[in-house]
Amino acid sequence: MEDITRHYTNGEVTIVWKPNVCIHSEVCFHGLPAVFNPNQKPWINAEAATTEQIVSQVKRCPSGALTFFMNADVAAEGDVEPKKL
Ligand code: SF4
Repeated sequence: MEDITRHYTNGEVTIVWKPNVCIHSEVCFHGLPAVFNPNQKPWINAEAATTEQIVSQVKRCPSGALTFFMNADVAAEGDVEPKKL
């Protein structure tokens, strides 16, 4: 299966989503529906909650489909492109 990775950022934190890993547990969109909403496009709106709320919710993803990195950490390492996790 193709390894697809999508990035969504609010400028501070970047949400990384791997659709092939997602088990559709719905934990994310019940926990933080303003950000994770399968009825909108794109389905993740990283601008709709605080970075703290996003990080907390991403950590609850049971499958590992959702991960995150802090943009400042990547910038500090001198990477131009976001890291592949
Ligand atoms: S919490 Fe993780 S596994 Fe569940 S629907 Fe969201 S991304 Fe998929």
